[in-house]
Amino acid sequence: MAAARRIVICGGGAIGAAIAYFLSRRGAKPIVVERHAVAGSASGKSGGFLALDWCRGSALDGLARRSFALHAELAGQLGNPWGYRRLTTYAGHARENRVARGARRPWLSDAVAITGSIGSPQTTAIVEPRAFTLGLMRAAEAVGAELRHGTVVDLVRRSNGIAGVALEDGTIVDGDAVVIAMGPWSILAARWLPLPAVYGFKGHSLVFQTGDAVPAEALFLEYQEAGGEVLTPEVFARADGTVWACAISSAGALPIDPARVAPDAGAHARLEKLCRTISPALAVAPIVARQACFRPVTEDGLPLIGPVPGVDDAYVATGHSVWGILNAPATGEAMAELVLDDRTQRVDLSPFAPERLPKLV
Ligand SMILES: Cc1cc2nc3c(=O)[nH]c(=O)nc-3n(C[C@H](O)[C@H](O)[C@H](O)COP(=O)(O)OP(=O)(O)OC[C@H]3O[C@@H](n4cnc5c(N)ncnc54)[C@H](O)[C@@H]3O)c2cc1C
Repeated sequence: MAAARRIVICGGGAIGAAIAYFLSRRGAKPIVVERHAVAGSASGKSGGFLALDWCRGSALDGLARRSFALHAELAGQLGNPWGYRRLTTYAGHARENRVARGARRPWLSDAVAITGSIGSPQTTAIVEPRAFTLGLMRAAEAVGAELRHGTVVDLVRRSNGIAGVALEDGTIVDGDAVVIAMGPWSILAARWLPLPAVYGFKGHSLVFQTGDAVPAEALFLEYQEAGGEVLTPEVFARADGTVWACAISSAGALPIDPARVAPDAGAHARLEKLCRTISPALAVAPIVARQACFRPVTEDGLPLIGPVPGVDDAYVATGHSVWGILNAPATGEAMAELVLDDRTQRVDLSPFAPERLPKLV
């Protein structure tokens, strides 16, 4: 019997874990190399909100629809340890210190007016993203994937392609192919490979322990602070009795070490004030996590998913911006097909080809 193909995946976020899962299901041998912690960055701190058709009209539509279906399948097949559930999603507006006129939801204060429902349980859902990423990684390990702790610092080349990666401690991890899936840190790989730039965009979030005080709902709000600044918070009720809320983004510099990501001064206090204002349930709930993380973005807002041009056996999957948890499953499925079969069955990856954008160096 031929030995299983060894695929080195650089980065243990949702994208790397999903690729490992789908590769391992096909009998390949994925080796995920993670510098900090699996789900230690955006993939463990994001909202985990999923939408079937919010990408319609964009190149992401096919990827998003396939992913939305796969999320339901994966939760069913793997026992749903990540709290996948369907949601009703509302839009609304609020002004600090003002009573708003309009429709209400019982868990929100009278500062909030609901303008309409923008997603139903047929079209919107949520997962707890850290448990989702860890769950996929564990499911991959159960069928032969390997997780290594280490910092990838270079590629190892052979005459006709890639032979693995080099780690900071001098170890070489052999592989028949390499996938770059380091989120915003994929920009480091643009020194080793002809790849476009990937940037990091920082977001802050809070997690409240609310028990059953908030129903299975999500809220997208336009909120005017007393000083006049308008924020656009997102608030999602998760199946584990917590509510996740985010609002304040910034272009703060990405530290090279993912373990050193820190919040901007004052961002969490501002977000906490907003949350305590818009909901009596959030006003009394303890905060169980104060988080900051960077989402990976490209010049044109679309991800980079595909072979690295001109380098055999090198692939990239990153730049998923605000939809990386949603789009992880179909990205993993398509990357497994691409690496093992040289073509994809379900999703057309051509809009995400890295060569559409200029190389960084
Ligand atoms: C505030 C916020 C809210 C969001 N909400 C949602 C949402 O509701 N729904 C949704 O679909 N998406 C959401 N997103 C987007 C989503 O979180 C990201 O697109 C996704 O997590 C990116 O996953 P990734 O695996 O590409 O990157 P990451 O999660 O960043 O993982 C990359 C991994 O690579 C590792 N790494 C870095 N350098 C090296 C190295 N040299 N060697 C080895 N490993 C390395 C890191 O330690 C990290 O674990 C949100 C993002 C933010 C910031």
